[in-house]
Amino acid sequence: MADPSYVGRFAPSPTGLLHFGSLLAAVASYLDARAQKGSWLLRIDDIDPPREQAGASDQIQRTLEHYGLHWDGSTHYQSLHTERYRDLRDQLLRRSLAYPCNCSRKQLAAYHGRYPGLCRNGTSGTGACAIRVRCDNTPTSFIDRIQGVQHYDLAADSGDYVIWRKDDLVAYQLAAAADDAWQGITHVVRGVDLIDSTPRQIHLQQLLDFKAASYGHIPVLVNSSGRKLSKQNFARPLPTGDPRPLLYFALELLGQEPYPELRDARLDELLQWAIEHWSIATVPPLVEVSVTAVTPPFDV
Ligand code: GLU
Repeated sequence: MADPSYVGRFAPSPTGLLHFGSLLAAVASYLDARAQKGSWLLRIDDIDPPREQAGASDQIQRTLEHYGLHWDGSTHYQSLHTERYRDLRDQLLRRSLAYPCNCSRKQLAAYHGRYPGLCRNGTSGTGACAIRVRCDNTPTSFIDRIQGVQHYDLAADSGDYVIWRKDDLVAYQLAAAADDAWQGITHVVRGVDLIDSTPRQIHLQQLLDFKAASYGHIPVLVNSSGRKLSKQNFARPLPTGDPRPLLYFALELLGQEPYPELRDARLDELLQWAIEHWSIATVPPLVEVSVTAVTPPFDV
C-alpha cells in the first residue's frame, strides 16, 4: 500500500501533446513519489477548451504509459468539477475576498502585469466581468525543495489576480489550488516556469482553509535558440519509438547520473534504478538547462 504521507501528481494541460520538457516534469514528480513509496496521480487540466487540442488528453495518457510512467487510480479531469470551483468562487465573493472586474486588456496594459485595483470599489461601465481575489498584505514565503527559499509579496508583485475568467471559465490558479487540496496532494514537483503561481496557490489555499503542499520546481529546458521548450514554441511531441534513450537523457538532466550500462537496460529496470537512486538534492536548480550543453538523443 502506498504511504499516505506522500501524494504527488502530474497535471498536464491538453493544449498540446507532451514534449521533452513535460516528460522531465513527469519523470521528476513520478520518481519523487515512487522513491518515497507514495502515490502518483494524474490530473488533466482541461479548463481551457478554446486552447485545447482534440485528442490530446488521451494521447498524453498513452504517452505516459509508453514511457512506463503509470499513475495510481483513475484520471482526474478538471472539466468535471466546474461547479465545485464555482462554489469556491462564490464563497470568496460572499466573504468579500473577491470582486468582479471588467477592466479591459487595453486599460491594464500600462500597469505591466500588476493589477492596480481599479475595480476594488465597484466596476464602472458594462461588459463581462472576471473575478479577482484581493491581495492585501500578502507576503508569502516557502521553501522550494530545489530552488531554495522563495519570498513573494503578491500585493506588490501581481496585485489582485484573476480566479475566474471573463469568458466564464475557472482560472488555473483557483482550479489548481482547489484540486491539489481535494486530491490530498502533499508534494508538487513541476517546472520552474510555474514557480510564480505557487504563492498565489498558497494564498488561495490559506483563504479557503486548505492544507498546503510542499513544492519543488525543476529547471526548464531551453532549445538551441535559447527559448523555453513549450507547446507555444512548437517543441516536438515526444517520439513514440524506444522510450529508453529519452528517459536516460531526462535522468542525466535531472542530475541523477545513471551509469552507462543502463542505456541497455529494460525500461522497467531503468525506472526501478531511477526510483531506488532518486535524489532531489542533485537536481540542478538552474532556471535553464540548455539542451545544447549535452547531446540530446533526438532533435528537441
Ligand atoms: N496544467 C499546467 C501546465 O500544464 C501545470 C499545472 C501544475 O503542475 O500545477 O502547465
